[in-house]
Amino acid sequence: MGEIPGAREALDRLGRSLRAQLVELINDLTPGADLGLLFLDWPDVADWHEPLRYSYSAVFRGRRPEGVGAADVVSRAAGLFSPADWDIAGPEEEIDGTKRTYVLTARHSDGTRIEVRTGDRTSAVFYSGQTPALALHEPEEFQWPEPVRTPETLTSGYVLCYECDGLGACHDCGGRGWVPSEPHGRSNCRQCGGHRVCPICRGAGQLAVSELSSYQLTYYPELSR
Ligand SMILES: [Zn+2]
Ligand SMILES: [Zn+2]
Repeated sequence: MGEIPGAREALDRLGRSLRAQLVELINDLTPGADLGLLFLDWPDVADWHEPLRYSYSAVFRGRRPEGVGAADVVSRAAGLFSPADWDIAGPEEEIDGTKRTYVLTARHSDGTRIEVRTGDRTSAVFYSGQTPALALHEPEEFQWPEPVRTPETLTSGYVLCYECDGLGACHDCGGRGWVPSEPHGRSNCRQCGGHRVCPICRGAGQLAVSELSSYQLTYYPELSR
C-alpha cells in the first residue's frame, strides 16, 4: 500500500503535542497522578472509510487535591491552554438536581480536542483528548482475488464449489472479512462471519464428489446423468 509521505510523522507530532498538553494539565490540576497510565503510544483507526484515518486519543483520570473545588479545577484548566493556539469553550455546567458537573472543551487550531470534566459528586477529574484523524495510505482499489481452482486445475474426483465457483475466498467480501457499509465505513461480512473463506468449501474452491450430500448434488445435475 502506498504510504502518504510525511503523514505518519505529522500524526506522531500531533500525538506528542497532545501528550505534552495532557501531561501539563494533569500535573497542574491533579498532581501525583500516575502518568504511566496515560496511554498514547500508537494511533487507532478513527474512521473506517477508505482510506482509513488514524488518530491518537487518550482518556485519563486524576484526583483533585483536597480542598480544591470542582469549579476551580476547570477554570484553572482554561488558563493552562495557550490562547494563541486553543479555542476554549466553557466551563459549561451540567446540573443534575443539586449536583453540578463542569466541562471544559479546548480545540487546537491543528484539530486536536481536549476535554476536562469534574463535578461536585466526585473528586475525580476526567481528561480526554484526541488528535485529528489522518489518512496514512493512499486509497487503493480492492483487487478481487484469483480463484484457487478452475476447471483446469480441479483435483480428480472433485467438482468446483457450487457456492464460490472455485474462488475459495468468501465471494461476498472477496476474502477481506468485511464489506463496505454505512455509517461506519465497514461491517463484518455476514457470509463468512469474518473468516474470509467460502463457508462451503472452507477455502478449497472444490468439493469431493464422494462427500456431496443429496442436497448438494442438486447443484450438479451433470453428475446424475
Ligand atoms: Zn466474507
Ligand atoms: Zn467455496
